[in-house]
Amino acid sequence: MNVEKILLEEEGRKLFLLGNEAAVRGALESGVSFASTYPGTPSSEIGNVFSKLAKKAGVYFEFSTNEKVALEGSAAAAAAGLRSFVFMKHVGLNVAADSFMSTAYIGVNGGMIILTADDPSMYSSQNEQDNRIYARLAGVPLLEPSNPQEVKDLMKFGFELSEQVKLPVLMRTTTRVSHMRGIVKLGKIQFPVSKGFFKKEPNKYVPVPANARRMHKEMREKLEKVEEIANATEINKSYDFGDELGIITSGGAFNYVMDVVRENNIPAKVLKLTLTYPFPEVLVKDFISKVSKVLIIEEVEPVMEQEVLSIAGKYKIPVDIHGKLDSSLPRIYEYTPDIVREGIEKVVSHKTEKRRYFKTNVTLPVRPPILCPGCPHRATYFAVKKAVEKLNLKNVIFPTDIGCYTLGIQPPYEMADYLLSMGSSIGTGAGFSHATNQKVVSFIGDSTFFHAGLPGLVNAVHNKANLLVVIMDNRTTAMTGRQPSPSEPINGMGEEVPEISIENVVKGIGVKFVETVDPYNLKKAEDTFERALKEEGVSVVISKHPCALITDSEKRKRNFWVTFTINQEKCTKCMICINEWTCPAFYVEKDGTVKIDPLICDGCGVCTQVCPENAIEVRK
Ligand code: SF4
Ligand code: SF4
Repeated sequence: MNVEKILLEEEGRKLFLLGNEAAVRGALESGVSFASTYPGTPSSEIGNVFSKLAKKAGVYFEFSTNEKVALEGSAAAAAAGLRSFVFMKHVGLNVAADSFMSTAYIGVNGGMIILTADDPSMYSSQNEQDNRIYARLAGVPLLEPSNPQEVKDLMKFGFELSEQVKLPVLMRTTTRVSHMRGIVKLGKIQFPVSKGFFKKEPNKYVPVPANARRMHKEMREKLEKVEEIANATEINKSYDFGDELGIITSGGAFNYVMDVVRENNIPAKVLKLTLTYPFPEVLVKDFISKVSKVLIIEEVEPVMEQEVLSIAGKYKIPVDIHGKLDSSLPRIYEYTPDIVREGIEKVVSHKTEKRRYFKTNVTLPVRPPILCPGCPHRATYFAVKKAVEKLNLKNVIFPTDIGCYTLGIQPPYEMADYLLSMGSSIGTGAGFSHATNQKVVSFIGDSTFFHAGLPGLVNAVHNKANLLVVIMDNRTTAMTGRQPSPSEPINGMGEEVPEISIENVVKGIGVKFVETVDPYNLKKAEDTFERALKEEGVSVVISKHPCALITDSEKRKRNFWVTFTINQEKCTKCMICINEWTCPAFYVEKDGTVKIDPLICDGCGVCTQVCPENAIEVRK
């Protein structure tokens, strides 16, 4: 779909939108003035769409350096009276949490929505934390949409609620809701306000202890108001299909509940909660008083289940409560209609039928996650490995980080030993260097370095750590879809901006050994890594070459494409290209002949430096 339609399509018309695209339309219909993010799946498309539309829509948009900075920018805009929208993947809220907690105390003037895209089953994440708990921790209202139409409509609801109670509003989507497509009926786009005005009131905005104590009390009072709204609002609604069971559900799980209940004629009442924090106590108390059994269906943590248990206990309501805590439903991972059906069958006498899915006898090829053909990270890993082998270093620890290069975990490189979070490779690398006598080589990408690697490097230098940091500068934030990184001379609105020199930054921190290499020159890169590995203290090598997706698109624009082939007369079948280099374009025929697939080869030519027989040549 042409993304311009998200801005230009008229009120009353319908578009078939991703949940993430619907969030943008909802923000534009709400007159959002300021939007910020650090890209992270499953929320990345929201930023990609804003990046294309913001200028035309008159909205300020930025890909911020990290989620904390993104939230701080949005909080400032809301303090100045603008409507602001900040969005991130679920673990991004951990990065933003310090400022997020204070924003809840200080409150807002213009409406502020913080969207967190959770990832049940961890399709692209290191954990499946349930960020609904953050709403409770911080004390902010929580909205849980279940489809793209709701995502769009709840943006407007959320901004109005935020302005009514002067609190930021957290919206929790999940991968399924963010990436689901659905028909969305459009409303009217509202023009944004270009500039706000910040009225100085330090007692209101600076949470020194005397102010913070007052602010906490005010925040709890605001939440009481929101709870009244949650008890009465139409977005918390019930459906009546019978009396045998009460189901309380929210978000993406609601879709599975409705499918299963309708398909199997389950005699149930369904309470769909959308404004789920503060939990609507009166509404839920009435609902569970009308049934003898209740099943709470939610992804991931038993957050609502614990609320329902406490309401039943508080009001002594004689009702059986089922969910995750009695193992009626699984505690972890994303739900499916069949998981929900099995859970319902455990607590009702009613028989249900397993879903019949469309089956095909086509066997799809297995696609393990690997570095792309032409990926500069492969060349970096190859060169570092050769340098380590040459120096005969044993038990080298390779802390890694979050980005495409985490794929260095795969054989034959196996150079990813420890990973906690964005930027952790340098902090943990310094820790290993103090805690062991092993050599440490930390790998981090350019965007991740600016995101959270900088404090780790300052710490490593200041505390005299002994490690080599390899900053893999591929000139973009590649893994989430090539959003600009601060090392590029372009920003999220497509404007020319200052390019931040990683080399200058690293030198400014006080690192003595700082060199930049092009990993496509394998020999030179290997020599540089060898010298860096001999250094004591912190050394940094910036391995700089654009992501293969960037060079590919440039080649496409120039309509100039070279691929490589193997001269079978020279090839000795030594298998170095297959076993040590592992570019996915290489394959072995049944007769043992080694070949390069011209459809996969990206023409980088680096493999010509790997082959000892000079058997790899440009395809004529
Ligand atoms: S590295 Fe060269 S000689 Fe060895 S298998 Fe590959 S193409 Fe043949
Ligand atoms: S030139 Fe060689 S390394 Fe580069 S993509 Fe083609 S086969 Fe792979």
